[in-house]
Formats: sequence, structure tokens, C-alpha cells
Amino acid sequence: MKRQKSFEKTGAALYLVATPIGNLEEMTPRAIAVLKQVDVIAAEDTRNTRKLLTHFDIHTKLIAHHKYNEAASTHGLLELLDAGKSIALVSDAGYPLISDPGERITKAVIDAGYPVIPISGANAMLNALVASGLVTQPFLFYGFLPSHTKEQMKELQLLREYPQTLIFYEAPHRMEKTLDNMLTVFGDRECCLARELTKRHEEFLRGQISEIRDVCETLRGEMVLVVSGYQKEKDQALDMPAIYARIDRYINEGCSSKEAIKKAATECGISKNELYKQYHEQLNS
Ligand code: SAM
Repeated sequence: MKRQKSFEKTGAALYLVATPIGNLEEMTPRAIAVLKQVDVIAAEDTRNTRKLLTHFDIHTKLIAHHKYNEAASTHGLLELLDAGKSIALVSDAGYPLISDPGERITKAVIDAGYPVIPISGANAMLNALVASGLVTQPFLFYGFLPSHTKEQMKELQLLREYPQTLIFYEAPHRMEKTLDNMLTVFGDRECCLARELTKRHEEFLRGQISEIRDVCETLRGEMVLVVSGYQKEKDQALDMPAIYARIDRYINEGCSSKEAIKKAATECGISKNELYKQYHEQLNS
């Protein structure tokens, strides 16, 4: 066991500093003070962070720490701590480590016995969750789903019977497809799409997955998706109309009906023979 008293000593420490997710007024006085006091700021993107520092008149030395140089940079940052220096880690927006780099250095610093001190601030998922109108606890923050349909459907199947409210980050150009996949695996659950949080065009779309899927092509900006968790009474049955629509789409894209059924059955984790039977029954009904 390791015990850390964050305020016992000054000097070598790693500060994990949250920065605004759009609205600069959400930069806290404590975050500004820490960024001014530390010896070095390690940033995901030094150009972005430079703008933030300029705005708040912060002149601390800035170095790059991102997923492509994480190993080498972690080594260098540990050497700085060994020399008694203090470091702040920031990402482009919100908390470092939350769908952003920082896990490796945090673990290495803890292992090396230096304090790791979080500095509170803005974060997209919590803003989306608390304003979603859905059950707030328990929740599961997933972050970004895999972008390819096959892997994404696999993950969604794993999540299908989780009772927790689910929170995802997603790129705007992938949102429609992701909602379509969720509709197939989860059924038409309640959800909330929160976009451009803390910015001028902040907007919440609260409704069924299908309703939001139908309009999301027109939406731009940064997005968080909050989806209600599995409810035994409501979600037991698979959403067969969504699965049939999926088969029809694959047929329209050029698959034979056999191939389309096989593909949809694999993606939805159901029996190919059973789906074949049900699909043809509904065609003939
Ligand atoms: N570290 C950040 C945090 O603490 O929230 C998340 C960084 S992650 C690379 C970027 C994703 O976060 C975006 O694609 C979007 O899903 C979400 N995000 C960030 N800022 C947002 C905002 N202002 N409104 C909505 N979503 C946002």
C-alpha cells in the first residue's frame, strides 16, 4: 500500500490539471495558480495549450506529452521529478487521462513515489450526464467506441445488459452510424445527445435513440451521448424491426439475402438460422 498526503510537502509532484472544454470562464483560479507555479507543463498539444496560457498570462515552460512520445516523455518527466521539479499535465480540453493521454505517466509517477495531485475543472461527460434527465447513478463512462462496425457491435453486445446509464464520446460524422448500431443492439432506449457543452451553441437532444438518429446528420460540433441502462422488463427482446432494416440495407448495398442475414446475425450475436426463419416469416406476413 502507498499513502499520499497531497499537502504535506512541496516540490516534486505531478499535477493533473483540468482545463476548459470550450468556455474559458471555466478555468479555475487554482488551475491558473498551479500552471504558473510548476516548473514545467506537459501538454497533449503545445500549440493549443500555448493559446490557453497566453490568455491567462502564464509563462511556464511547455513540453509535448502525447500518445506518440509517451514512453520517452515519461522517462524525461521522471528525471525532472528526480531533480526536484514540479510538473503539470494538461490535455487539449477537460481532464487529462479522460479519453486523453496521461495514464502511463500517472502510474509511473505513483510507482516512483511522488505525489499525483488532481486539480478540478471542466469535463464533458459529467456535464452531459447531470443534464441528461436520465438516471445519474450508477453510470458507466465508456469513452469512444471502436469506429469499425464489427468491433463496435461486439462492444455494444457486451454492454447490452449493463444496468448502468452509459456515457459515450463520439465524433459527429460517426454519430448516425453509432446510433443505428445501438438501435439494433439495445433497442429504442431513452438517450440524450449533448453537444457543444459550455459553448454558445450548447444543445441537448433528449428522446429515443431512433428520434436522435433521424436528426443527427444535421448536427455539428463536439458530442457526448448518454444512454439509459438495461431494464429487464423493457429491454429483453431484441429490436427485430431494426435488425430487419439492417438486413435490407445490406441487401441494398449488394449482399445476397443469405449473406446479409449472416452478417446481421453475427453483428447482433444471434443465431443465423433463427434470424433466417424470422426474417422470411415477417416478409411473408
Ligand atoms: N478530456 C476530455 C474530458 O475530460 O471530457 C475529453 C477529451 S476527448 C479527446 C474529446 C471528446 O470529448 C469529444 O469528441 C467529445 O465527445 C467530448 N467533448 C469534449 N468537449 C466537449 C464539449 N464542449 N461538448 C460536448 N462534448 C465534448
